Amino acid sequence: MTSETKPLEERCAERGMRMTEQRRVIARVLDGADDHPDVEELYRRSVEVDPKISISTVYRTVRLFEDIGIIERHDFRDGRSRYETVPEEHHDHLIDLKTGQVIEFHSAEIEALQERIAREHGFRLVDHRLELYGIPLKKGDA
Ligand SMILES: [Zn+2]
Repeated sequence: MTSETKPLEERCAERGMRMTEQRRVIARVLDGADDHPDVEELYRRSVEVDPKISISTVYRTVRLFEDIGIIERHDFRDGRSRYETVPEEHHDHLIDLKTGQVIEFHSAEIEALQERIAREHGFRLVDHRLELYGIPLKKGDA
């Protein structure tokens, strides 16, 4: 998450969501994450703050946040749903298949190309999802 991103608690308040203390903890954990954690990882980090939080509360809360559009769910093909706060500035993802590391990038060229393709098919582009999967180049690879 970038520094200018509005905290999730604030976004929840704007949408009139009732915030329990446990939801606040989970919101803060999500705000503090920059690694696209899955529910189990969110659970691990949340119980460090409040040991009474259950994994089903984390599941429910994450679903709730997703439903009101303040967090995004990703599927990076490792069989786990990963979450991040909806960023102020759009980015796409490059996934390292060796380590599972997720790299964020933004390409003006790709954005423009996608809009052009949609337009050529008679559409106005409203959203897209792009994931690149790769393995690190070895020294000497072209
Ligand atoms: Zn991301």
